Amino acid sequence: MNEELKRDIEIVWHVLPFKVNNFVVDHLINWDNVPNDPIFTLTFPRREMLLPQHYEKVAGLMQQGADTRTIKRTVDGIHTSLNPHPTGQVDHNVPYVNGNPLPGVQHKYRQTVLYFPSRGQTSHAYCTFCFRWPQFTGMSELRFASREIELLIDYIREHPKITDILFTGGDPLVMSTKSLAANIEPLLDARLSNLRRIRIGTKALTYWPFRFLSDNDSTELLALFRRVVKSGVHLALMAHFNHPNELDSPFVRDALQRVRETGAEVRTQSPILRHINDDADV
Ligand code: SF4
Repeated sequence: MNEELKRDIEIVWHVLPFKVNNFVVDHLINWDNVPNDPIFTLTFPRREMLLPQHYEKVAGLMQQGADTRTIKRTVDGIHTSLNPHPTGQVDHNVPYVNGNPLPGVQHKYRQTVLYFPSRGQTSHAYCTFCFRWPQFTGMSELRFASREIELLIDYIREHPKITDILFTGGDPLVMSTKSLAANIEPLLDARLSNLRRIRIGTKALTYWPFRFLSDNDSTELLALFRRVVKSGVHLALMAHFNHPNELDSPFVRDALQRVRETGAEVRTQSPILRHINDDADV
């Protein structure tokens, strides 16, 4: 990686969160193809991600050797000006139970509630296109996060049109199996007649396939998936695959197979991303 690229990364990560792990670095990125490699572009910050005036401001402070507090003050101002929840995500679609708001839950679509479990509000690595960055930057008043599974169960029971719950984050599969089970098992135990599907939005299959292979609690995670399927509730991982290179790794293929063996479905979704997959052949 050349010096200019390194400097840009250092400047941009003061403003936008950057996180990558050794699996992505060692197995998904082709370093001979950097900076054009699609997974590099997917995970490493670039100068173009900031408005020129924001880039110059932070670069100038770093050049002057400004202290951490001064840089943080400037970055806080930039964060606020970026209007992190442009569609009013924090206030809109918040459900109420017994007249009280249910934080960490959104009821945007008639059949589906979105649930943001509190321990799942980070990811194994961060995608450069992610709009959930306020959840990763400590802008705490903007964080979704729920510990209110019992209240959510009441809400689902009171709204028979709800058939789906989508666990989202961040990535709920950064949670330990124990924490995930503490959220999922009460849903199963409640035997909600209208709840047909549990979906988990995750990029763990490609950012950390070991979650399903060799983490301390991988076996328990797959057993939890089996329990959901056995209960008659449909379980689907809403995987993010942004580029076919992500499927080249044998670890990713093994992880997919393990998940499929539990009876869970794997579906995928990806936006069309410039410099990553905006090509008909890809
Ligand atoms: S995996 Fe999803 S939530 Fe996590 S950084 Fe990527 S897009 Fe955002």
